[in-house]
Amino acid sequence: MKKTLKDVGEFRLIDAIAELDVVSGIGDDCAVWTPPPGHDIVMTTDALVERVHFHHEWCVYEDIGWKSAAVNLSDLAAMGAEPVALLYGLALPARTLVNAVLAIYDGVALCLDSLNLDIRITGGNVAESPERMMISVTAVGIVPTGGAALRSGAKPGDDIWVTGTLGDSALGLFLLMNRFKKEDWPGWLALVDRHLTPTPRVEFGKAARDIVSAMIDVSDGLSGDIGHLCIESGVGAFIDESLLPVSEEAKNVAERILRPVEQWALTGGEDYELLMTAHPDRANDLRRAAESTGTRLTRIGSTTTGEMQIRRLDGAIEELECLSYRHFS
Ligand SMILES: [Mg+2]
Repeated sequence: MKKTLKDVGEFRLIDAIAELDVVSGIGDDCAVWTPPPGHDIVMTTDALVERVHFHHEWCVYEDIGWKSAAVNLSDLAAMGAEPVALLYGLALPARTLVNAVLAIYDGVALCLDSLNLDIRITGGNVAESPERMMISVTAVGIVPTGGAALRSGAKPGDDIWVTGTLGDSALGLFLLMNRFKKEDWPGWLALVDRHLTPTPRVEFGKAARDIVSAMIDVSDGLSGDIGHLCIESGVGAFIDESLLPVSEEAKNVAERILRPVEQWALTGGEDYELLMTAHPDRANDLRRAAESTGTRLTRIGSTTTGEMQIRRLDGAIEELECLSYRHFS
């Protein structure tokens, strides 16, 4: 079906969306949902804009849908929340194919399935956009009352931990932007996958919620996100560069392009790993949470009463610059 939104109009598009398995409850002005007793509701919203967050040149509509869900679920994971619902607001050019819109929803479903999440898109809106596509997602989750993991709870002397590996997503984007070919670059697929279809740490976030003193997801880049956490908690940090977890694929590509892999790990954004602090007494509990959810977990430093510092590979101690992605600059 090569029909565009201009051909079918708003209401036939909404009818087609309402048919999808991943969507439920379209028909009223609002979605109604009763939270279970003894829980707080946590909410987050994030918009993906064409040519800012995604480029049709190198990703398909399913990828866009996947990522739109994943980035929001990652924010819920950072609070230790259980996701309960998603709302989708789409702004779409009239020339967009109906099948492209449905593929975005397919991507959302694929992401939810990969996480074994039995939640639905319970509401949304479509509007016409003159030029570019925009996808705005609101995600809703729950945590036991008062139990959300915040950025502000770290104390000096806590360990700093991070899940997974860092820098993969930024290297994946680098490969795409430079049009480097899959055939020529071992590890291309793994890195590009991490950029286009990241996996939010929902299960680990829930398991770690009552153990950590503070938590944040790594979306802007490690050094920037450590900065956010430290500012909110009123602590400093001492990071050991040699401890930063990096993948073999990232190491190989970084070596070939002559930019240290640690630099990618420190400043590359969009890994959607979780960064957290915990009292040293809780180290084993945290390791168990990682093990039970099949998550790689690495201690990379400690919080301090001082400034943000990093011990470089050569032993030099420097100020940790909070370099990260910024909009509007
Ligand atoms: Mg976040």
